[in-house]
Amino acid sequence: MLLTKENFTDAIWNDWKFHMRNLIRTKDKLAQWIALSDQDVTAIDAVKGTYRWMVTPYYASLMSKADDKCPIRLQAIPHADEMNTDVGSDIDPVGDAIFIKTRRVIHKYPNRVVFLISDTCPVYCRFCTRKYHTSNEKGTYYNTDYDAAYEPDFEYIARHQEISDVLLTGGDPLVLSDGKLEEIISRLRSIPHVKIIRIGSRYPVFLPQRITDELCSMLDKYRPIWLSTHFNHPIEVSAEAAEACDRLLRHGIPVQNQTVLLKGINDSLETLKALFRSLIEIRVRPYYLYHCDRVTGVSHFVTGLEQGQEIVDKLVGFETGFSVPSYVVTTKLGKIPAQRPYLFRRGNRIYVRNYNMEEDDITGYLI
Ligand SMILES: *Cc1c(COP(=O)(O)O)cnc(C)c1O
Ligand code: SF4
Repeated sequence: MLLTKENFTDAIWNDWKFHMRNLIRTKDKLAQWIALSDQDVTAIDAVKGTYRWMVTPYYASLMSKADDKCPIRLQAIPHADEMNTDVGSDIDPVGDAIFIKTRRVIHKYPNRVVFLISDTCPVYCRFCTRKYHTSNEKGTYYNTDYDAAYEPDFEYIARHQEISDVLLTGGDPLVLSDGKLEEIISRLRSIPHVKIIRIGSRYPVFLPQRITDELCSMLDKYRPIWLSTHFNHPIEVSAEAAEACDRLLRHGIPVQNQTVLLKGINDSLETLKALFRSLIEIRVRPYYLYHCDRVTGVSHFVTGLEQGQEIVDKLVGFETGFSVPSYVVTTKLGKIPAQRPYLFRRGNRIYVRNYNMEEDDITGYLI
């Protein structure tokens, strides 16, 4: 019999340290949770030495036991296609290496920076934009020494008065202890021009138990802190995940969600509509829907840009306004809004369409 969460007492299951002590990193361990297909086995062997993989028991509990096309399995278990090096793919398609200013600070936009405070995650998404930073066995494309002093990073932020918003990410910042996180956050709070601190973390999805009341109370001391998380499929919106988000929200930490559009995982109107509806039910605001970046080893997840546009076109106006994220494509130039237009200039007139109309239908509608 395969394991389910019912095999564990609540006290064990709700203790995040249990999951971290029992991270699944071998085929044998994974096979305790799901029936591995021949394809899974081949793929796990194929990526060995190139890409890391790892799964929390909690995330494994969301997986289908039998179906190797399960959207949870596909996000976390290696696929042999990762070894393809597709023409047009890039290990750094978003240009981190161009904009990195210190060991950890990426400054691409005028008022905000990314602060990479970790290179590890509790589960490695197979489609990670920073695949060469997080899951590449051979090291990252920029810095590897994550124990190096933070002072040059803080100094950069302190020296640049235009920086009002710091996004802690990685990897996943919540792999650090509460104490280490507090050290970083309190130091940032001591810089007067830093007004907003954001944390980008997939823990609410991969190990919601990590979002403890203690962690939330610590974060609450340094408000305003916003948390961006990353749900990709309605199956991930479990009772545990809902409770984790509720703990954050009750401590005054707004939670937003960034979804990546992924072929074979969530690239249908039905799935994304269900996902965004369940997110607003747990008071998590859909923020961005990312077109999947053409990262080396990730190409098998990339959909057509038009596919995303068509899906979003069937959400805008049909669904609650704040349940519809902005569809964006990330490039070296930054995030580019990718939705289809609703306003059209023809000569000296501006025509509009509403959610029920195609561009071809707009004749006669003008403002
Ligand atoms: C996404 C991103 C940000 C934050 O952008 P928002 O649109 O404000 O969420 C900042 N820096 C970099 C490099 C980013 O990719
Ligand atoms: S949690 Fe984020 S940083 Fe970590 S592997 Fe997934 S997408 Fe990459």
